[in-house]
Amino acid sequence: MNNLTAHFTLEEMTVSQTAARSEIDNTPSKREIEALRLLCVNVLEPLRMSLGVPVIVSSGYRSPRLNRLVGGSANSQHMKGEAADIHVNSLSIQALFEAIRDSNLPYDQLIQEFDSWVHVSFSNRNRRQAIYAYHDKRGNVRFGTEKPG
Ligand SMILES: [Zn+2]
Repeated sequence: MNNLTAHFTLEEMTVSQTAARSEIDNTPSKREIEALRLLCVNVLEPLRMSLGVPVIVSSGYRSPRLNRLVGGSANSQHMKGEAADIHVNSLSIQALFEAIRDSNLPYDQLIQEFDSWVHVSFSNRNRRQAIYAYHDKRGNVRFGTEKPG
């Protein structure tokens, strides 16, 4: 068990069912591990402490090959170890999104994705950009600052 912070392990920040199924090596480098640690120290651990309930990571680090396989964007921060997709069992996705957006956490990008998970990143920029990802009527992925529909 390699703990990055009190409540987050390197394992949970790198494990991927898709990688296992496709026999993809999803081992991060030292630099990416350090980025994952900073994401946990600055965002995920303080979030977990303020919510008082487990924050579940469905996707953290992604090797370029894994990122392609799961349809991640070409410059996804997941590939740098700077982003995690999360949810919390006792909160809706919208409520979790608002909890982070309205906090003082130094996040870079916060995306409420399809009412299914929250993407949050930490980098040396930390723009505190909070947006929605959704499908338009044609099924294309769109991003916006307002919740659609
Ligand atoms: Zn993501």
